Amino acid sequence: MELWYTENQNNHLRLSCKVNETLHVEKTPFQHLAVLDAPGFGRILVLDGIVQTTVWDEYMYHEMIVHIPLNTHPNPKKVLIIGGGDGGTAREVVRHPRVESVVMVEIDERVVAAARRYLPELSCEFDNPKLDLRFTDGIKHVGESADEYDVIIIDSTDPVGPAVGLFSKEFYQTVFKALKKDGLFVAQTESPLFNRDLIARIYGDIRSVFPVVRPYLTCVPSYPGGMWSFMMGSKRYDPISVEPDGVPPLGYRYYNAEIHRAAFALPQFLRESIGQV
Ligand code: SAM
Repeated sequence: MELWYTENQNNHLRLSCKVNETLHVEKTPFQHLAVLDAPGFGRILVLDGIVQTTVWDEYMYHEMIVHIPLNTHPNPKKVLIIGGGDGGTAREVVRHPRVESVVMVEIDERVVAAARRYLPELSCEFDNPKLDLRFTDGIKHVGESADEYDVIIIDSTDPVGPAVGLFSKEFYQTVFKALKKDGLFVAQTESPLFNRDLIARIYGDIRSVFPVVRPYLTCVPSYPGGMWSFMMGSKRYDPISVEPDGVPPLGYRYYNAEIHRAAFALPQFLRESIGQV
């Protein structure tokens, strides 16, 4: 008998993939956690019934949530990651030549333990000496920080459970305070196809706090709709001003200098949703 994993994209659409094996299932203090092995996607991390990452397409997400902000800031020495328990974001951050230290604040220790065991391609830099890995609520950590980080990357789950507060205007105000005077941040901001109202609300909230706000897009075939959004809030630097020589050659698989520029070209429906037309 064949085993299939199915995720509801909304009330009318589902994404299914064939599964070889369920490697791990656990109820953590924060969420339901599963790791699957699939012939198409490779290993898949699932939290509360939602795909977080797959070994097959993770680079399209992790390179874009990391290298766009790190190459926008001219000197991203100190970086904070909120969430990111699979390790893909930390892996990309530590290989950036100008990054000196990284604090990663993940609320759920069990996600990191599962990633260490089942997702070595993503979790391979958890023991990097540049990385200080802490297990606590990212909202609390940011609230207690002031004038500390050059770049903050919010690699969170969807806005449910412990991640709800990571999508609020009050949180963006504390992010502003936690950043140095020329700092910037990026957050994953869900599907442009299924979460237009949420993206419009986030855009308005970040715009009311940061002078520069730039939504941008990538492709992630395992996420709802296959198109994914991020939002940058910046105190000074504008990501669309980055020149090709500002992109260090790090052997990317998705990102490059042309993608850096193209990612900020928004489809008309999204421009209309966020009121840019
Ligand atoms: N790339 C993924 C996506 O877009 O769906 C997110 C991956 S990563 C696994 C998300 C992590 O955020 C989870 O491990 C979760 O435990 C963590 N998280 C959620 N809320 C958090 C909070 N308030 N503070 C710190 N980490 C949080």
